[in-house]
Amino acid sequence: MAVIGFIGLGNMGLPMASNLVKAGHEVLGFDNEPEVLMKSGESGIITCAEAKDAAEEAEIIITMLPNGQIVHAVLDTIIPVMKKGSLLIDCSTIDVESAKSLHSRAQSAEILSIDSPVSGGITGAAAGTLTFMIGGSNDAQKKAEPILDIMGGRQVPCGDGGSGQAAKICNNMLLATTMIGVGEAFSLGKKLGLEQQALYDVMSTSSGYCWSINAYCPVPGVGPESPADNDYKPGFASSLMIKDVTLAQQAAAETGQATPMGHNALELYKEFLADEPDDLDFSGIITWLENRDRG
Ligand code: NAD
Repeated sequence: MAVIGFIGLGNMGLPMASNLVKAGHEVLGFDNEPEVLMKSGESGIITCAEAKDAAEEAEIIITMLPNGQIVHAVLDTIIPVMKKGSLLIDCSTIDVESAKSLHSRAQSAEILSIDSPVSGGITGAAAGTLTFMIGGSNDAQKKAEPILDIMGGRQVPCGDGGSGQAAKICNNMLLATTMIGVGEAFSLGKKLGLEQQALYDVMSTSSGYCWSINAYCPVPGVGPESPADNDYKPGFASSLMIKDVTLAQQAAAETGQATPMGHNALELYKEFLADEPDDLDFSGIITWLENRDRG
């Protein structure tokens, strides 16, 4: 059993770290919110007063933090105390450039590293069924495998350092655009007098087939159960979708790649969230589209 440091014990980090405890590992945890840290102690995590206390004894350090800037601020304190040959796993969703520079910093300190953002949300984190998109060396990926196995159902190697984050933002930019397209199709169908179930039966079995229809239909009572059937409670919050598509647009600007659909999707999600008192699931954008005139 390994000694694992876990930094960032929020909505995702706490259930992930709890699964490592349940699997018999010794988990040293740190979060800079005292209430979050106290809650972690109740799940069998050994709480630490500082990030470096969670890092210096550990063979593996996992970070699950809000953004690249915070990840690098945490690295400032933990890299100097981490053991040579230990492994850093960053599961946060951060920008590709920050992820690449995380790998350089780890390499300079003779620490193995992977960027390993996740999909599957809070439910997947609790159930231990997350998917990890992994960038980094083969040695680092091999060392991470048994630990990631406990927290997730699937590991997808994507290439060198930074490629896990790259895959994550490309996927989520696509998801944002398909969900808006699906919302538009159902809204137009409604105006044309089509039954939503009939339109689902056509689109889910013909060339409109996609995950946003077949697995996560934004229309209540149609298709498999989804956040639409629970008043659009997340699920995957629109604010997180805005975060991920913003990272995709930042990467598009840095690489000079045109992404007009991604650009529009980001603007539409921002308008949707500005009009909404609650942070609804990203599929809730259909309710906003339905009420918009052509203009
Ligand atoms: P969260 O805000 O609930 O948790 C982040 C935690 O980091 C908080 O508890 C915060 O106190 C802590 N933190 C912030 N700065 C810190 C510091 N300097 N030192 C130590 N702790 C610090 O967020 P979350 O929902 O758990 O998401 C974490 C990451 O996972 C994000 O990058 C997010 O984009 C990604 N993600 C989230 C979901 C989701 O459904 N929530 C899904 C996929 C990916």
